[in-house]
Amino acid sequence: MSEHNVIIAGSGCAGHTAAIYAARADLAPLVFEGDEPGGQLSLTSEVENFPGFPDGVGGFELIERMKKQAQKFGATYQYGRIREVQKEGSHFTVSMEDGQVLKTRTLIVATGARARKLEVPGEAELFGQGVSSCATCDGAFYREREVVVVGGGDSAMEEALFLTRFASKVTIIHRRDALRASKIMQDRALKHPKIVFLWNSWVSEVKGTPEEGVTGVMISSKDKPPELFKTDGLFLGIGHVPNSDFVKDLVDRDEDGYIRTIPGHTPTEIVKTRTPGLFACGDVVDRRFRQAISAAGMGCMAAMEAEELLASHAPASVGT
Ligand code: NAP
Repeated sequence: MSEHNVIIAGSGCAGHTAAIYAARADLAPLVFEGDEPGGQLSLTSEVENFPGFPDGVGGFELIERMKKQAQKFGATYQYGRIREVQKEGSHFTVSMEDGQVLKTRTLIVATGARARKLEVPGEAELFGQGVSSCATCDGAFYREREVVVVGGGDSAMEEALFLTRFASKVTIIHRRDALRASKIMQDRALKHPKIVFLWNSWVSEVKGTPEEGVTGVMISSKDKPPELFKTDGLFLGIGHVPNSDFVKDLVDRDEDGYIRTIPGHTPTEIVKTRTPGLFACGDVVDRRFRQAISAAGMGCMAAMEAEELLASHAPASVGT
């Protein structure tokens, strides 16, 4: 069984930053990339608010640069999903879905969050066949076609704005009459000639078949019976669900599954969980800010906490 100082679960902004710091501290971190290497940032078209990039930077490019930087200092990366983690004495036993079992002295959970689903009839059957949660990935399939975006936050505005590059019309369906998105994103969407809004309404069913794709959605509202709205695609922009189940027995979580860290006396304690040696950072913890830069900051803190804890013990022989 291979034995490590630091295993990092997740390869988004938080995971890569933790890897850079842990690798520079000579801890030879092993990073598990999970199902979506690069996390949500790698699916973002343009990042305009990450310091140091006055002209913006592509999300995928930014994440690739972070990975390269971590590898330069000695971090190693593996594809794989962690199934379960157990604490045994001063070590964690990490069981992978492919059957591999590893030992680590510290674990940094940076597994982020996945796109929330509407959980309505037709959605699961047509996911990937006209239902999508990633305009950057699937937008180009909708050239000169009409699409619907659900949600009223920044994700929904970003999805809708990106889709205007291809689609002839983008309808944003929002369950209230006010947007949650930041002012700048609201303004861009509200002013865009290809975007129209349907307020106080929600999608109650997705119509279509896996062969022909999405043909429409049933739209419900308080005052009217559900009616069919024809569309070629449905994009979900309704927030995210944290990926924290695999450590559920070792951490406290809130009602939505976000990991609760210890309310600390110093800012760095925001990455400590109730299990010593298990740190959590980025979107799996943070339901409020959820920015690339704040995730990176937490990744840094998690690695420095792990380093401090390990400094008081002899290092493990890495790699078996
Ligand atoms: P969010 O802010 O939580 O917004 C989710 C939206 O989906 C809300 O408008 C919500 O409606 C709606 N919604 C949730 N569940 C729904 C359901 N079952 N049916 C219909 N509508 C539903 O999530 P987000 O937009 O993903 O943003 C998350 C964070 O990331 C935010 O801090 C945001 O600023 C940040 N972000 C930033 C950028 C950027 O700066 N470019 C891009 C993306 C995300 P209600 O409003 O009624 O609750």
